[in-house]
Amino acid sequence: VLRLGVDIGGTNLRLALVEVGIGAVFASRKERHADPSPQAVVAAAARLGRDLAAGAGLSSQVAAGVGVAGQCRGASGLVLSAPNLGWRDVPFGEMAARALGAPVRVANDLSAAALGEQRFGAARGVEDAVLFFVGSGVGAGLILGGRLHEGAGGVAGEVGHVKVAAPGGLPERRCGCGALGCLESWAGGVAIAERAREAAAAGRSEALRALCGGDPARIDAGLVERACAGGDPWARGLWEEVGALLGDAVANLAALLDPARVVLGGGVLAAAPALRLLLVERAMARALPAAARDLQMVPSELGDDAGLVGAALLAP
Ligand SMILES: [Zn+2]
Repeated sequence: VLRLGVDIGGTNLRLALVEVGIGAVFASRKERHADPSPQAVVAAAARLGRDLAAGAGLSSQVAAGVGVAGQCRGASGLVLSAPNLGWRDVPFGEMAARALGAPVRVANDLSAAALGEQRFGAARGVEDAVLFFVGSGVGAGLILGGRLHEGAGGVAGEVGHVKVAAPGGLPERRCGCGALGCLESWAGGVAIAERAREAAAAGRSEALRALCGGDPARIDAGLVERACAGGDPWARGLWEEVGALLGDAVANLAALLDPARVVLGGGVLAAAPALRLLLVERAMARALPAAARDLQMVPSELGDDAGLVGAALLAP
């Protein structure tokens, strides 16, 4: 059975025809948002969806699941807030169903990705799994009792916005959500890059200054990882601080939810094995022993496809 999976990130729109019986991506398309407005994104999704259906020899549109990088009241199709797209209270489910001419289910992108990993990826075979994701931001998708858990209002798993004390007595940083004290404002990829650029500019990390070749805009988590591997003390200190914050978040999730498996995903963790190790060590050291005893922490298997596969699984 083919279903359409749609993944709407802050930068890119991706679509895939997925054979949902086996979780295989049959064909896919990806393009950068030329215009991130809901009207433009839905028009682009409809165009690419028609293209995919025609390429597969399908005469009519197929039901679609849509993962959106934002807070969604999924079952109603309402996107409450997608800050990286500039969306607020957008009835995206209705818009997409009309444009695609097929039934549509909307969900948070990490919720969709968690479902993909649980059905066909790194969390196969367990009923209670958390996808812990560190990309531009920090977030989670929750599978509890074998089912996607979206919460009463659809915003369960927003672990990037749990509040943490500023590390090392540093002044608070403002999060993309507008609040102070969010985990993401210290440990998300955007925050990591900002802090590393500040350090390079202030001369606190010679390695970063050298690695970026004089262009601080090139500094990202991958470059911090390289500086750390090369023995740069500032980069090592940053990884210890960020690893502790992320590891505590996983330990807290383990105490609250008692998952069998935590799947570690997202571009930052993929690009930074040293950070991933610090995270896992900290989580194991700080989790409630009874919750940590059988807890497995594993890397994502589906990577970028998890959201597409999971979205297709959600299609009505
Ligand atoms: Zn926040």
